[in-house]
Amino acid sequence: MQSPRGTKDIFPLQSKAWRETEQKMADAARNFGYGEIRIPIFEHTSVFARAIGEETDIVGKEMYTFVDRGGDSMTLRPEFTAGVIRAASQHSILGQSPLHRFWYCGPLFRYERPQKGRFRQFHQFGAECIGAASPESDAEIILLARQCLVAAGINDFRLQINTLGNSESRAAYRARLSEFLQSVAEQLSEDSRRRMEKNPLRVLDSKDERDRVALVNAPSLTDFLDSESKIHFERVLNLLESQGIPYEIHSRLVRGLDYYSHTVFEFIGNSLGSQDALGGGGRYNNMFEYFGAKSAPCVGFSLGMERVMLTLEQQNPALYSPETPDVSLIALGEESVNTVWKYAAFLRAEGLSVITDVLGRSMKSLMKEADKFSIPVVLIVGENELAAGTVILRDMRNGGQRECPSEEIASAIREIIIK
Ligand code: AMP
Repeated sequence: MQSPRGTKDIFPLQSKAWRETEQKMADAARNFGYGEIRIPIFEHTSVFARAIGEETDIVGKEMYTFVDRGGDSMTLRPEFTAGVIRAASQHSILGQSPLHRFWYCGPLFRYERPQKGRFRQFHQFGAECIGAASPESDAEIILLARQCLVAAGINDFRLQINTLGNSESRAAYRARLSEFLQSVAEQLSEDSRRRMEKNPLRVLDSKDERDRVALVNAPSLTDFLDSESKIHFERVLNLLESQGIPYEIHSRLVRGLDYYSHTVFEFIGNSLGSQDALGGGGRYNNMFEYFGAKSAPCVGFSLGMERVMLTLEQQNPALYSPETPDVSLIALGEESVNTVWKYAAFLRAEGLSVITDVLGRSMKSLMKEADKFSIPVVLIVGENELAAGTVILRDMRNGGQRECPSEEIASAIREIIIK
């Protein structure tokens, strides 16, 4: 039996690196005053269909949707934002206070064509700032996203940023862009021809070479921005500059989803190959309405953990060093086993990582194992030690060994480990 295509098994060597990286990002989020939100892995299909938009690739062809035993249509979450806003709206959190800052981390599901950096089950770390319309909140989210990458140890990336303006600016631009796309329709890729009817802005995102050529003279959204949209964007850029954050304005950046307005951004990894977006996000001001609630402005981001981990594998292999126990505790003879287990329980309670043998192996093979996995300390308890209330303590790094009273083993081990 094989795992489904586009899924991965993560064994301890990698999961330690994942856990440490997620923790660094969680710490960064905490530094910015964000608290963790945990939401269901599946939702009613309408949560995503409405909020993400029927015309998007995600809703149109990538969702894992099934009818449950009660006859309801459910979908495995393909992104976090819709579920987070569903939860915020269901629990009327804006009635309790005007601003909420959440972070999240977990698996998502999209039926996409698997390739390097693209999976069917993947993971994101992200955050949403709910209730603020200000350019300051956009800048805060960008700063946090960037800090998550930096805290994880990634430095080799670029920040691309754009504005989609408010809905009036966007509507005017959309009309002009549609006209333009009609005029070059013959030269566009099939995908873009299909998209240009319902979601013309998405055509700008296309990576297809034919589209790039056809779009050279496309009208620029920047020319359609009204003064409110311009002022908002300039303030965001100004805040980034004041914090010394480099950025590139990318006037074709629209991101795949329907719900964005004003600021959108992406972090591009320089060492990732074709799937080079480490993550991205933007402002979305209308999502609460999809859930029948009063509208509230929001801004958020999400980072693709697989791409973050892929980058770290190349840039920081030390992160992937194995997790080694501190101590191997060896019982010589049946009668020492219970005492050895007592010592093990004591040392574990002291915070040390301790293994005892569960395969009935000889002392020789246990010493070999300790050597092979670079376990720094071996403790041996035989008949004599049992009678004397001591252990033999062996420093595996230099081969030195001595008898040690049982009350002193924790501190003696620490001395060796810290060395
Ligand atoms: P999105 O939710 O589509 O805006 O994606 C945000 C980030 O999640 C992307 O920049 C990727 O890093 C990551 N991502 C999106 N889709 C996938 C996927 N199928 N496999 C792996 N990572 C993904």
